[in-house]
Amino acid sequence: MPSAVKILLVPLLGIALALTGCDSGPDSSVANSAGHTGPTASTGQANRQVLDQRPFDNRDDFENARRGLIAQDPELVIDHLDGGQVWNMPAYDFIDENGENAPASVNPSLWRQAALNNIHGLFQVTDGLYQIRGYDLANMSIIESDTGWILVDPLTARETASKAFLFAREHLGEKPVRAILYTHSHIDHFGGVQGILQHLSDEEKANLRIIAPAGFEEEATSENIIAGPAMTRRAMFMYGKRLERDERGHVGTGLGKGPGFGTFGFAPATDLISETGTELTVDGVPMIFQIVSGSEAPAEFTFYLPEQKAFCGAELVSRNMHNIYTLRGAKVRDARLWSSFIDEAKTLFADADIYFGSHHWPLWGQENIQDFLAVQRDTYKFIHDQTVRLMNQGATPREIADQLKLPPELNRAFHNQGYYGTVSHNAKAVYQHYLGWFTANPAQLDPLPESDSAQRYVQMMGGAEKVLESAREDFEAASAMGASEGRDTYRWLAELLNQVVFAEPGNDDAKQLLANVYDQLGYQAESAPWRDFYLTGAYELRHGSPKEGIKPAMMREVLLNTPVSLFFDSMAVRLKAEDAEGESAVIKITFTDLKESYLLTLKHSVLHNRLVNEDTPADATLNLTRSLFVDLLIGRAGLKELLFSDEISFEGSRLDLIGFFSMLDKPQGRFNIVTP
Ligand SMILES: [Zn+2]
Repeated sequence: MPSAVKILLVPLLGIALALTGCDSGPDSSVANSAGHTGPTASTGQANRQVLDQRPFDNRDDFENARRGLIAQDPELVIDHLDGGQVWNMPAYDFIDENGENAPASVNPSLWRQAALNNIHGLFQVTDGLYQIRGYDLANMSIIESDTGWILVDPLTARETASKAFLFAREHLGEKPVRAILYTHSHIDHFGGVQGILQHLSDEEKANLRIIAPAGFEEEATSENIIAGPAMTRRAMFMYGKRLERDERGHVGTGLGKGPGFGTFGFAPATDLISETGTELTVDGVPMIFQIVSGSEAPAEFTFYLPEQKAFCGAELVSRNMHNIYTLRGAKVRDARLWSSFIDEAKTLFADADIYFGSHHWPLWGQENIQDFLAVQRDTYKFIHDQTVRLMNQGATPREIADQLKLPPELNRAFHNQGYYGTVSHNAKAVYQHYLGWFTANPAQLDPLPESDSAQRYVQMMGGAEKVLESAREDFEAASAMGASEGRDTYRWLAELLNQVVFAEPGNDDAKQLLANVYDQLGYQAESAPWRDFYLTGAYELRHGSPKEGIKPAMMREVLLNTPVSLFFDSMAVRLKAEDAEGESAVIKITFTDLKESYLLTLKHSVLHNRLVNEDTPADATLNLTRSLFVDLLIGRAGLKELLFSDEISFEGSRLDLIGFFSMLDKPQGRFNIVTP
């Protein structure tokens, strides 16, 4: 049969252009209810080729992921305190348990990883060491101590942590909690702590040790404050928040299933570890710590349990390639330092017979662990060193990302594949770390903004209709091409059609065709974030941006523990410069509970803050509690209502205060990304 391709115009949600190849499944011509079109023949071929590129007959990961299973809840659904769901494992039941039946719309390697991350429950890792996996993005580990438990990483949300903890108690018996370890400052490892604390007695809470790496509190509470609205909007893409859980939607994040978007909380640490080699005995359990801050997280430790010969790698290593740059947006990480910390761990804890981490399943056997650490270490170092080498030859980030491939010896194992980070975007991150956004090509110095240049491009190419006509032909042809040529055509079409959409955001045909291209690129991606970015892009081209962003109120408890000066820094980045032009003001905010006063000075369209004595003069003074101030910032309380209530008092002009606060932006966290 010739590789003929027929084009069907499906009048669904506008015009969805869908293609069916001779071997791409019976319903691939029809868009599903979310509008995602089926995989084309070349996408199917690209995904089948992956089967030859990885050692799929090696089943060790599945054995390890199931080893020591004590109990499993097949109906694991966790409700949000305010209604709705935080967690739903049965939603992923469409993935076969052995990860062998990938549909043409999912990269088989990612499908396999998604199947592994579906394996959830309570597991015994070794005597006195347990893990709860699949109750949230991260794992919670339980170490038996002399008189109770030490918990490691209490998940992201109150709801998920509580459910996991109660499940462990149900099957292991009720033991007092003596300590909690936060391995690092990312919220999936501490945000659920209140879900544990709510089950503890007053005596347990009074004697509880909370052990964290030095710098934990500043980093944990500040990470998402300044750039929070942009990061959370982008996280909706990265984690596929708006996608269905199905074979044309979200299958997992590579690192786990998804983040638990529940109620985030915080509890401050009692013990901070600042030096590698620190030894601590916690309720009879000896531990040796390694500080790895500045690798995967700005404050992070790993630790070793010498009695069990068990190494907790936190997130320094994991069963996927991690991010040197996180696509939701974050400061880039230092790949050279990261690799050197893995090397240090490999030597420091060379005796380890067991590895367990903050994500994924454990690994047993000294040789396996040494090999795992060496490959993880060398993966990051290879990406670092070779990117720099090419960079020093003058290659641009796009060129490096396109040509850099792991060498065959590093490309054999599954655990360093790009299910989360990728060689491509990590190489760009290394370039960014050293040289920033500029390639030194002056054409990049002062280009027109995207929409303006797009309009000129499209006009010069003869108008949108002409571009679309040619793009449709290319798209049709791509389906019949070999996998690699087809993929390059989709990459090109993404760039081309993006110009048309940015030139004419109302052009539905352009948006539909671009969405169809993103579908194919998403289906082929081995990286879960890439898949979710492409498919969310396709979704938003078809359905628009969300009506609501992720509500800042879910961060309330974290904000209550954030250093106050950081609030004011976050206010400063919300100042509407145009409204503040020519204005000046001196506002004092006194926190009645903290007994602290801050002077906010507005001049030159810039807002400064500084801790001052309570009697420092100001144009207007606002006296309130810190929690009320947090409510003001997150929009839970309105200033105007508050100024007429008894909850705050003020001196000076009420109008001055209202005028001042009205100069602050209220970011909605739902801005457009795939359209201008
Ligand atoms: Zn994590």
